[in-house]
Amino acid sequence: MILDQFKLDGKVAIVTGAGRGIGQAYAIGLAEAGADVAIVDVIPMDETIAAIQKLGRRAIGIKADLSKGEKESPKIVAKVVKAFKKIDILVNNAGIIRREPFAEHSAKNWNDVISINLSTPFFLSQAVVRQMQKQGNGGKIINIASMLSFQGGILVPGYAASKGGIKSLTMLMANELSKDGICVNAIAPGYIATANTAPIRADKKRNKAILDRIPAGRWGTPDDLKGICVFLAAPASDYMTGYTYACDGGWLAR
Ligand code: NAP
Repeated sequence: MILDQFKLDGKVAIVTGAGRGIGQAYAIGLAEAGADVAIVDVIPMDETIAAIQKLGRRAIGIKADLSKGEKESPKIVAKVVKAFKKIDILVNNAGIIRREPFAEHSAKNWNDVISINLSTPFFLSQAVVRQMQKQGNGGKIINIASMLSFQGGILVPGYAASKGGIKSLTMLMANELSKDGICVNAIAPGYIATANTAPIRADKKRNKAILDRIPAGRWGTPDDLKGICVFLAAPASDYMTGYTYACDGGWLAR
């Protein structure tokens, strides 16, 4: 039956940056669909862990600095396999944004954003893929893109480059990993009310300009993204790979 194809019972997921914001919603959504979840963040993860355990699923929190993805990724995978024996789903959600005009944009801002948003998803996916290949049952990798995977934005060169790169990396991974039954897709959230977007929501002029352009007429919420995440993690999407899906209240259609 089709609704059974959306169930994640017995699956093990990793969600990065799940201490708060959209990552927290992804982690809870996957648990609501049946998965046990390992969450990775630098901030306290108690709230997310408690919400998952309340659903009767297992949860662990792994404290790691994802600006150091090359060093941290093998350690994260080893901890998850030790706790849950396997990995079926990876959501590369952790991300940062730094706003500064192009001509003045500092090397630190550029490097920090590229490390966390693009390099770490590469290194963590690589470590997870090696584990999935060993398991031999395929898997699902979900990268987190952005409207700026399709548009240039302003003041955020590192962010735009990282999210454009995520869309390309998603296609490459799909091309190479389909033979192993590993599906790789990306979610491109529209304008979602989180700490990440607090500065532009506080700017009355920018906030109005954004709202005027969203056909749905409102900012998205982290919960708006749960459905696409569960779908891309579930057997229902087994023939879908290599694509970046917008969940944006119609922003890109405008
Ligand atoms: P958020 O509220 O800032 O949450 C991101 C989480 O990642 C935070 O817990 C953050 O911890 C963590 N994180 C940041 N740097 C880290 C590091 N070095 N190591 C480990 N964890 C780290 O952001 P969000 O709005 O939920 O965004 C989540 C993802 O969606 C990002 O990839 C973002 O680019 C993408 N996205 C968001 C929007 C939007 O409108 N909000 C739109 C498109 C795409 P800290 O609190 O320490 O930073």
